[in-house]
This record gives sequence, C-alpha cells and structure tokens, in this order.
Amino acid sequence: MSFLELNLHPSILSNLADQGYQSPTPIQAQAIPVAIQGKDLLGIAKTGSGKTASFVLPLLNELVSKAVSERNRQPNVLVLVPTRELAVQVADVFKVFSRNLKHPVKSMAVFGGVSINPQMKAIFGVDILIATPGRLLDLQRSNAVDLSKVKRLVIDEADKMLNLGFKKEMQEIIALLPKKRQNLLFSATLSDQLAGLNSVVLSNPVVIKIEEKVADVELINLSGYFVSDERKGPLLRHLIRAKKMKQVLVFTSSGIKANKVAAKLIKNGIPALPIHGKKSQSARLAALDKFKSGKLQVLVATDLISRGIDIDALPYVINYELPRSPKDFVHRVGRTGRAKSEGLAISFVNREETHHLKVILKKMKRYIDMIDSETLDF
Ligand code: ADP
Ligand code: MG
Repeated sequence: MSFLELNLHPSILSNLADQGYQSPTPIQAQAIPVAIQGKDLLGIAKTGSGKTASFVLPLLNELVSKAVSERNRQPNVLVLVPTRELAVQVADVFKVFSRNLKHPVKSMAVFGGVSINPQMKAIFGVDILIATPGRLLDLQRSNAVDLSKVKRLVIDEADKMLNLGFKKEMQEIIALLPKKRQNLLFSATLSDQLAGLNSVVLSNPVVIKIEEKVADVELINLSGYFVSDERKGPLLRHLIRAKKMKQVLVFTSSGIKANKVAAKLIKNGIPALPIHGKKSQSARLAALDKFKSGKLQVLVATDLISRGIDIDALPYVINYELPRSPKDFVHRVGRTGRAKSEGLAISFVNREETHHLKVILKKMKRYIDMIDSETLDF
C-alpha cells in the first residue's frame, strides 16, 4: 500500500517523502482512513509500529485546508500523553509534518516542571495542543486555555493515561471538553480495566488491533543473565565493552539507583547520564536530547522513559533491575527493535527476581535463554 491511497493532502505527502516514509505501517494503513472519516478509534499495535503518525497525519489533514480565520483561536485538537518527554516528541512529529502547509497549523507542547508563564503567553492561537494532564489543568484554571472548542481528542499510551494514577485528572479534563467530539485512543498494551474505561471516553469506536503474525521475525531479541546484585555493575561494564555497545538504555527501578549506576559508569570511563523524575526538567530534556542525537553512550533511566519515547535505531536495552509489572517490561524493551531495525534487550536477574521473570515471559509469550554470569570471565 502507498500513502497516496490514503487521500492525504499533497503537502503532507511531500513531507512524508522528505521524512523517508515510503509506505504506511499496518496501523497507519488501517487507522488513518477511520480517523479521516471522523469516527472514534481504539488503535492497538506494538511498540515502534508507527502509532504517532496514525493520528498526526489525519489530524493535520483535517486542518490543512482550513484558513486560519476559519479556525478558533483555541485548540481544536488535544493530545494527552503521560510524560513531558513524550509531549515534546509528539509535538516534534506534528511540526515535521506541518512544514510548508498551505495554511500554517500551530502545534505546541505544554508540560509541568518548567515555568508556566511562557506557556501561557505562547498558547493563544494554538490549533493542536499536546499536554500532560497536570499542567493542562493548571493552564485551564488560570484561563490561559479554553478547552470547549476541542473537536478531537487523542489519548496516547491510553492504558497508562486511563489508569489509576491519572484517573482524577483525566476525568476533570474530559468534563471540560465538548461532549460531541472525536476520540482517538492508542496503546501497545491493553489492560482489562481499559475496556471498562473506554466506554467513558469512546463512543462506538472502531477497534483496530494489529496482531503480530507468527511468521514475523521478532525484532526485539531477548536475552538474560543470572547475576547477583554485587556483580550487576561489573557485568554491565563488561557487556558494554565486550559487545561494543555504541548506545544502550539501562533501566533501574529507582532514581537513586539510576544516579548510582550512571556515576559508576562515568568513574569507569563510560559516558553516562541518569534520567528520572527527581531530575530538573532541563536536565531531563538535555539528557534525552543528547542520547537521541547519538552523543551519549549510556542513558540510565527509570520507567519514566519506558513509554513512547522513540530513539532512532537504538540497538540495546538493559534491564539492570526488572520492572514490577509485565507491561512496563514490554514498554521498556520496546524502546529497541523499532521501525524495522533489530534490537537486543538484556535482563539482569538475581535469585529473587527469577520467579518474577518467569511471570513476565509467560505474559509476553516469550522465552529467554538465560546465561549464568558465574560462567563468564569479567
Ligand atoms: P509507536 O508509537 O507505535 O511506538 P512511533 O510512532 O514512535 O511508534 O514510531 C516509531 C518510529 O517509526 C519513529 O521513528 C517513526 O519516525 C518511524 N515511522 C513511523 N511510521 C513510519 C513509516 N510509515 N515509514 C517509516 N518510518 C516510520
Ligand atoms: Mg507511541
């Protein structure tokens, strides 16, 4: 299939060509026509399968033909995401595909952790607002934004957004939106509670679920090491050197641990930075930028970064500690093996974590050949 068959505006098609997007991914091929028709949609497809463009392209397509004067000076499209980093990333995708449109479309990301004033000033006249829930509510409460003109709502990482942690804020936001609107929800992992919450947000949605074909080569290879806590640091350094890892994203279970692991790597001459919720927003964005642009070898992160973040051709992910939930495991390892490039996700497992790994793998329907680190020389 070609993008030409999706009835997209010529200027969007030319932006697609500039970005090297030759043909739509399966979720794009199925979701874009449904979204253009104005229907509600629940799109489920694995990590790295191109869900962002599945909503960015039809939404821009809708706005591209409308002169600025025909639009409201308040957001027409609202995209909700769980983290600040993802808000910035999604806004960048909107910007890339909004280049040289006949009528300019203004998109902007708003998120907490930075001062609110510049956002209040810049928000006027924005067509597409990409937001984390807390800051959006702050802006709304200070009358900087009016959500009553939102015609289309996107919830990316929908399972996370409709989960307990965000429930109150999400209910508050949804109550501020017009009842009649289009809703587009996307997720790689769909949990049981989502089905119930769907009915709150979606009305008669078209459900698109891209099943992985058995014949598909799994792009994310998994491997694991049995290793004691004391030996995790040395094993990490050994693997980085032995496998000549140009870039690796290491996950720990806490910010304190991320700091420690990064400090130890630096001490051993391996460039690393930690990223987690206790870091300032500028440090978070700077570390991620450096990593995304390939100028940083190791990023040590908490699950903050496990959702949605797209790092071009990232070859390695290492679980220094296992995440608590199998879903987080899926999202963590899903930072590699994206957009048709292969990746390896390595898990470090101590004695106490062995059973938990079994649970995770069973849920994922995957198998890992474990290596006993005691047999290695490092
Ligand atoms: P998901 O949200 O499903 O995890 P993303 O939307 O972040 O995935 O896309 C993953 C990567 O694939 C991004 O780098 C994106 O630019 C690239 N990509 C998406 N669609 C296409 C396409 N049709 N052709 C080529 N690359 C694509
Ligand atoms: Mg995504």
